[in-house]
Amino acid sequence: MRSLADTETIGVVGAGTMGAGIAQVAATAGYTVVMRDIEQEYVDAGFDSIESSLDRFVSNDDLSEADADAIVDRITGTTDLAELADCDVVIEAAVEDMEIKQDIFRDLDDALPEDVVLATNTSTLSITTIASVTDRASRVVGLHFMNPVPIMTGVEVVVGEKTDADVVAFAHALAEDLDKETWESDDKPGFVTNRILMPWINEGVRAFDEGVASKDDIDTGMKLGTNVPMGPLELADHIGLDVCLDASETLHEELGDRYKPAYLLQRKVDAGDLGKKTGAGFYTYD
Ligand code: NAD
Repeated sequence: MRSLADTETIGVVGAGTMGAGIAQVAATAGYTVVMRDIEQEYVDAGFDSIESSLDRFVSNDDLSEADADAIVDRITGTTDLAELADCDVVIEAAVEDMEIKQDIFRDLDDALPEDVVLATNTSTLSITTIASVTDRASRVVGLHFMNPVPIMTGVEVVVGEKTDADVVAFAHALAEDLDKETWESDDKPGFVTNRILMPWINEGVRAFDEGVASKDDIDTGMKLGTNVPMGPLELADHIGLDVCLDASETLHEELGDRYKPAYLLQRKVDAGDLGKKTGAGFYTYD
């Protein structure tokens, strides 16, 4: 297995909310990054989101313009998976769909040398099941970044059934090198964070749908009442309602009825109101 000292280039699969954030923090830490999505427009949107995030750091005087430019220059965008072949580690952050993730891991397993660690940013899917389609299950690990990646300091390291102990240690060390703090979870549905977070979000959606309070009162009540920075509806918009629904469905399937997604969450996703990213979810955005 490649050590952290041998790691210079990080591959990121998916240039959406999370992939772009992971590419940004990896390039900020000095790594060369290859960011891959399936269409050029998604790669371009990834760069737009990286540039606007870096602009905010520049306007707050946390980063110079020259450093922001150098960070962007360290990232190459591509739609060609073959361009990941020289990466020393790959972090997958494509859509939360087991078949798509397994296809990606099959392709990565074929394209990359066998000593390369393949990580997934999945929120809820089994690392063991994703790894099972590769010939390197011992070198597959969960590296679950939090959203927004450049701001949130935590990364959950998820240990699959066959993940080697040195790969787990590598995952912690890599995340720490990206200026994150880590904790570890076994490969159980939802890991630590989403197992607890998703029922909280769904209960917030149900409380709103059942007329317990207005959306503002639900969010304000949870913020002031429990000292969290965002209430459940605001946070669901921020994560993406489609991402919440995918995660809730996986938990429902694996853990039973206590994880049933809220009806209104399904209805909003069906209507295409996915939260901040589409301009409307429970709130509307410019
Ligand atoms: P997103 O919808 O913003 O982005 C997903 C990207 O993956 C899209 O750009 C899509 O085009 C791309 N994609 C689809 N198939 C692909 C393929 N075969 N190869 C390369 N790219 C492909 O989703 P997101 O919010 O960034 O979530 C990505 C992953 O991160 C999911 O597994 C999700 O569960 C997880 N996650 C999300 C959050 C969150 O708050 N949004 C937090 C932690 C983890």
